[in-house]
Amino acid sequence: MDSNGVELNRDKFVEMVSATAEVDLRLSDFHPDSCLQTPVHVVERARFPVIDYHNHLDSTDPRQVLSVMDQCGLEHVVNITMQVGQKALDIMDRFNAAAPDRFSTIGWMDWSGVDQANFVQLTIDRLQRMIEHGACGIKFWKDFGLTLRDTDGTLLRIDDDRFAPIFEACGKLDLPVMFHTADPSAFFEPIDARNERYEELAAHPDWGFHHSTVSKRELVEQRNRVIARHPTTTFVGAHCAESGEDLAYLSQQLEALPNLLIDISARTPELGRQPYTARAFFLKYADRILFGTDLLPEVEMYRLYFRFLETADEYFEYPSHASRQGRWNIYGLFLPEDVLRKVYRENALRLLPRLR
Ligand SMILES: [Zn+2]
Repeated sequence: MDSNGVELNRDKFVEMVSATAEVDLRLSDFHPDSCLQTPVHVVERARFPVIDYHNHLDSTDPRQVLSVMDQCGLEHVVNITMQVGQKALDIMDRFNAAAPDRFSTIGWMDWSGVDQANFVQLTIDRLQRMIEHGACGIKFWKDFGLTLRDTDGTLLRIDDDRFAPIFEACGKLDLPVMFHTADPSAFFEPIDARNERYEELAAHPDWGFHHSTVSKRELVEQRNRVIARHPTTTFVGAHCAESGEDLAYLSQQLEALPNLLIDISARTPELGRQPYTARAFFLKYADRILFGTDLLPEVEMYRLYFRFLETADEYFEYPSHASRQGRWNIYGLFLPEDVLRKVYRENALRLLPRLR
């Protein structure tokens, strides 16, 4: 065998390994320990006060969340309620009563009545009621574009003219619109041995959209047409506007759409596996990036986010839900202080007039 492996072609190598391995190890049983020895910097508290602009607290106890926040240096958490109607208003009231300066709530788009002629007015009335209860934004989820259907069975288009007055009203009401449109690129690929998020999708096959009749790029373009059409409305693209796998494309979108900001929630695995590109992206678009997590508020989770943004640590675990996002680790971005201040807090303050 050539010790450099140069002359060993891949087929021969696979043949050799198969012949010598005693067992054919299952992927789910493979949990290698890294032998890499590199410095570890645990960031117990963020260097500056932090606003988590993307979280879901509906089923949490505000007092427990406050305890986590105080341990990690979090000033404020924005709860994106997943309820609509009176339930959503009750949740807003609950967090306001617990600590109005520590929590805000973004409302969830209520599609009930979408088949009615007065749906636009119905929606604007609902938005106004939410604002009376302190709502600081409205979220449109991925069902818009992927699964929501018209009465005749066709998919509702994000850029359908019928909904334009809603986005226009959000601008007049000074209510930022958050879009979670489409999903990670791997979710639009078949769930097979070539899928880089195979284990996650195998655990949640309903997260896959490879049978979708509409492509991810088409959905992103529908959303971007809406953002371009309403320049006086502020939009937030959740999860790096679902373009974390392609930061050149995300940069193009930010250049073309000055009223678009993004949050980094649930995208440290994407950003942290391309640290050179991601660091340059953060430096260039420091005014457009919001800190967010989209994970249950836990001390260790927040500390991993801080480690990613603040340190130059190499090859460490990313914050994630239990089924992980893919079999890789991440690298810290060691962002400078002025960038950290903007990403952690200042950009979010622009969207939270009550806190300014
Ligand atoms: Zn979320």
